[in-house]
Amino acid sequence: MNDTINQIADSSDITLEQLAHLLTTDDKDIIQYLYDTAHATAQQYFGNKIFMRGLIEISNHCKNDCLYCGIRRSQKEVHRYRLSKDEILDCCQQGYDLGFRTYVLQGGEDGWFDDDRLCDIVATIRQQYPDCAITLSMGERSHESYQRLYDAGANRYLLRHETADATHYARLHPSDMSYDNRMRCLQDLKDIGFQVGCGFMVGSPFQTVETLWQDLQFIRRLQPQMVGIGPFIPASGTPFADRPAGSVETTLRLLSLVRLLHPPVLLPATTALGTLHPRGRELGILAGANVVMPNLSPREHRKDYSLYDNKLCTGDEAAECRVCLDRRIRTTGSQLVVDRGDAPSATCGA
Ligand code: SAM
Repeated sequence: MNDTINQIADSSDITLEQLAHLLTTDDKDIIQYLYDTAHATAQQYFGNKIFMRGLIEISNHCKNDCLYCGIRRSQKEVHRYRLSKDEILDCCQQGYDLGFRTYVLQGGEDGWFDDDRLCDIVATIRQQYPDCAITLSMGERSHESYQRLYDAGANRYLLRHETADATHYARLHPSDMSYDNRMRCLQDLKDIGFQVGCGFMVGSPFQTVETLWQDLQFIRRLQPQMVGIGPFIPASGTPFADRPAGSVETTLRLLSLVRLLHPPVLLPATTALGTLHPRGRELGILAGANVVMPNLSPREHRKDYSLYDNKLCTGDEAAECRVCLDRRIRTTGSQLVVDRGDAPSATCGA
């Protein structure tokens, strides 16, 4: 079976049968070999560096009604907030002082952040922090909007594709959202020159080995600079509130496979993984992840950006607890670095 893992690594490809086997096997030796090979591959490309991104959750208003999401439009209990430009800049300053050189501005699809406002914020961050990368994760927008944000100084854009199977996509989203538009957005972002991140939840309702295989094939075709993979975790009040959470183990196996299929990728050990397992992010790193995204948002709003239940928001995942995070990462033999952490082949836009 180690031959199979070597073959996947050598060919950067995987068959449906190989995936089915690797996701279901109980053979601990095989899975350990998978993790070790992926971890060694990450080290081959990035040394023992783990990059940190400062996550700033700028708004939990959202016009969309994704069936899985705790801040979907229909959630009545959510206390809605959005950060002002000054609050966002304060977060950047705090982050800079803590050593962050990448800011990730994430939010629901909030119409208040139209192109003029968002471009103004991006341009100001670009001017004040010329040595930092600016990543946006603000959902689906027009080609023109993405172009304006890029021209204003944004370098990277995260937009999880959620699933590469159109039928599965339609079961996770309301009818006014479309798989085709999601794909159009990712292609536009790539064409414009953004470093692009796609990704999916592990264990989302109706996910199958076949849909996961399509996700992996999609990643092989898109060749994104980043891939965000975390377990699905149910959120109270949503249509999927009673669904089981995705498994930590399956998430780790998929992290490893993404590393082997697309070695230079920037691969976060996500907060969702840390939420389901006390050492989730360390295990993610040992399975091939090389990015962590501590939270730089103002403390008083962290609990409101609750995409799912029991989201980590008071411990080591917080940016101000960098020392604790540093200590945790060192247990994996790696170390946090102060660096923009661009993808190896990327040309920098700043
Ligand atoms: N609105 C932007 C977008 O659509 O890309 C960014 C915000 S969105 C809340 C960020 C990601 O959170 C989604 O792409 C989704 O994969 C993840 N997410 C939402 N609900 C989740 C849940 N219940 N469990 C795990 N991840 C979830």
